[in-house]
Amino acid sequence: MRKGLQEKFARRWPGWFDLDGTPTTTWVAWGLECGDGWFEIVWRLCSDLEPLVTELEKETGERFEVLEVEEKLGTLRFHVSHHTDKIDERIEGAGREASRTCTVCGKAGRRRGVSGRIACDEHSVSAADSQKSLADGKLDSRAGQIGGAQHALLLDYGFTVVKVGKDTAVYQSQRQGCQVTLDATGHWYIKLEGQREFRGIGVVDLEAALSPDERTL
Ligand SMILES: [Zn+2]
Repeated sequence: MRKGLQEKFARRWPGWFDLDGTPTTTWVAWGLECGDGWFEIVWRLCSDLEPLVTELEKETGERFEVLEVEEKLGTLRFHVSHHTDKIDERIEGAGREASRTCTVCGKAGRRRGVSGRIACDEHSVSAADSQKSLADGKLDSRAGQIGGAQHALLLDYGFTVVKVGKDTAVYQSQRQGCQVTLDATGHWYIKLEGQREFRGIGVVDLEAALSPDERTL
């Protein structure tokens, strides 16, 4: 999810989303790892949880926290610090909604390809694949296994896979003049023309890496 949208959650529910925390205590520190298309679903889920959390915190005296928001194999993972039947019901409901919503644009979608990513026709990876050679498709699916949701994000940004190793996948974007390497442990490395380089872990933060005139989204 774009950084700007993630920050909306942290501003609206400051105690719930510790975006600046450390990954050893909360996975949310790696960012909300799903597409912008699920923003509305996650936002509505948090709004629905709010009265339940207020009640829970009053009863237990403990502080509720969202520990992870992630798209994994086309499923919304929303992990929280405290559970009640009602909280779990809401989370399951949001998950059902996500399973039929395009992760890119939020329109109606369905499960696609090996990644299981939910996409509408316009944003389906398989539609893009059909214009490529079979070899490219295989390369993409292998890269997808390494990069997971990150892989889909880079494809959305117009990157193509140029090389796949045992544990790394390398992407290139002509338009943005940059190369991104992902590995299966969630680390990324961005090399831009002009020799600026960025490293990180979690969601590839292209918006931070690219200067405004280099961005296309
Ligand atoms: Zn879409």
